[in-house]
Order: sequence, then C-alpha cells, then structure tokens
Amino acid sequence: MPSAGFVLSIHVRPHFPPKPTPTAVPIYEYIAADPEKSCRICSKGFELMRPMDRPPLEHCHLCKNPVKKLVSQVNTPKVTKPLSVSDAKSKGFTIMKRRDKGVYEKL
Ligand SMILES: [Zn+2]
Repeated sequence: MPSAGFVLSIHVRPHFPPKPTPTAVPIYEYIAADPEKSCRICSKGFELMRPMDRPPLEHCHLCKNPVKKLVSQVNTPKVTKPLSVSDAKSKGFTIMKRRDKGVYEKL
C-alpha cells in the first residue's frame, strides 16, 4: 500500500520562491472598438501600462465604450522568424548543419 506521504508528494507542488518581479511593466495599446461613439482619448488609441496578470482592459475608463487591444509597438521586441532551411536556400544561402566534431554537411 502506498504511503500517504508519497501520494501527497505528487499532488502538492513544492513551494517555489515567488517569481521575480519583471522590471518592465508591459505597455499595451488600446483603441476604441467603435471610434464614432468613443471619447477623443480612446478613439485615437492610448497606451496603458498594465501588469501581465491583469485581465485585458475591455472598456475605456473615460467613456466606458468598448476598446480593443492593439499589439504594442513599444514594448514588444520585434522577433524575426528564423529562416527555415528552404527559405534560406531560396535566398541563396548555403545551409550548413553541424555533424559530429567540426564536421559540417552541406544540405
Ligand atoms: Zn474613451
């Protein structure tokens, strides 16, 4: 018969130290879902610093009209998609893949 202690150890997560606070609070951009009905702040869009654990803002605080979140251009580093081998080849790159020690194979 399994000991109670063993069963518990599966279900109870070890107590991790709290996550370090992110240094940068993400900045979200919002814009009115319907600019016609919205105030001049949200009809042009506004930025909001908001901790990541908060639910997204749904309504403008000023005019209470619905807003939608834009992809932030301020705080999101542009992540370029890594080239796939076929993409790179089509652009004239020679793709070398590392085999064993210092041995490269042309693909
Ligand atoms: Zn508004």
